[in-house]
Amino acid sequence: MVTGSTTTESLQCVRCGQDQNLWQLSPRCTACGGLLAVSRDLSEYDATMLRGAWAARRGSLAPHDRSGVWRFRELIAPLDLDEMTARGEGNTGLYPTEELARWAGVASLHLKHEGENPTGSFKDRGMTAGVSVARKLGARTVACASTGNTSASLASYAALAGLGCLVLVPAGEHTSAAKLSQALAYGARTLAIRGDFDRALVLLQALAPELDLYVLNSVNPWRLEGQKSIMFETLEALGWEAPDWIVLPGGNLGNTSAFTKALLEMRELGLIARLPRIAVVQAAGASPFAASYAGGWAPLQPVRADTMATAIRIGDPVNHPKASAGVRALDGVVTTVTDPEIMDAKALVDRAGIGCEPASAASIAGLRRLCKEGVIGAEERVVAVITGHLLKDPDASSRYHASAAEHANPPTEVDADERSIRAVVRGL
Ligand SMILES: *Cc1c(COP(=O)(O)O)cnc(C)c1O
Ligand SMILES: [Zn+2]
Repeated sequence: MVTGSTTTESLQCVRCGQDQNLWQLSPRCTACGGLLAVSRDLSEYDATMLRGAWAARRGSLAPHDRSGVWRFRELIAPLDLDEMTARGEGNTGLYPTEELARWAGVASLHLKHEGENPTGSFKDRGMTAGVSVARKLGARTVACASTGNTSASLASYAALAGLGCLVLVPAGEHTSAAKLSQALAYGARTLAIRGDFDRALVLLQALAPELDLYVLNSVNPWRLEGQKSIMFETLEALGWEAPDWIVLPGGNLGNTSAFTKALLEMRELGLIARLPRIAVVQAAGASPFAASYAGGWAPLQPVRADTMATAIRIGDPVNHPKASAGVRALDGVVTTVTDPEIMDAKALVDRAGIGCEPASAASIAGLRRLCKEGVIGAEERVVAVITGHLLKDPDASSRYHASAAEHANPPTEVDADERSIRAVVRGL
């Protein structure tokens, strides 16, 4: 089994096909500016051996074995064990949810709860890989544009690795205070940009070479290699039996790209016998990918994004070439949901005792819509990915439960005496 320097990986441009230096600072093709993808010679590996090695590592106390990313290191990044900056990411729960399944309209629904990662979102799986590579490359400062979670995660892993960290977030109400507080607290140099996420990412990519920054947005191919572990872990937990559908929210489309790549690799390796289909859900106010899909994969037209699901408030998704190829390869679909639909679905995910931030609930709202439309059948088995923790956006929950919405559960204020409490609890 391969670790360290006997590398089967290469880095290729998905646009012009050029081979690039595996260990380069530029996250994009140096010839044409296209997206880069890590490819590897899978004939080196045997499914039975991989399953055995991955299962054995779960019993180890070593940080790189216990990590739900590095446990799968053969398919993540060819680093030596001491090059891995890990903090116990991954190993998240996969919860069967009968009531939600009924509400959505399917026979079986499991939620993969990525909010259980160290900084509260799946971004940690990408950052453990990306920051480890940054260290190997000798980068001094890592950087990202972010709607909140990417900056929270990068700031934490940069602190752990002893690297400088610069983050650009939209100024004002469109960045959740909880996420921003993480970036500040973990010590990132934080710029609140008077503009949206898409603008921040354009600015960062333009300035990165001059300012000597290693960019760790999902344009970075190693981030996506780390995020593939969500699928490895899910399929392992299901005994390597693919569900019928994987449902996830789509913003910058990093996860869509990573998941489809992981599933295709698993199929090629024989880790799974058949592929699930994939359903990507966008907020109606930030749905250029859904529009491209609906137009028979028409060229993506960027939009000015608007949704209260801030983590998917993205109008020009950087990974769309990889994501559209991946969705096509898995015979997938792309749909949209409104903000009120997202918030009702969130209330039910929350009430199931699991909880999520608004963007994550787009999965469940979208699943329900696809069931109603007959795209997903009542007998099908579904895994939906919950991308971020409930506490990532407490204001959204508070506002919902103070409103007249269907599943609102507002507090009851009472006088501070026994009689008043008794009266309320007994419903008098
Ligand atoms: C980043 C993020 C998304 C969007 O994921 P993409 O890979 O950019 O499509 C969705 N939900 C949450 C909670 C996120 O942090
Ligand atoms: Zn190229």
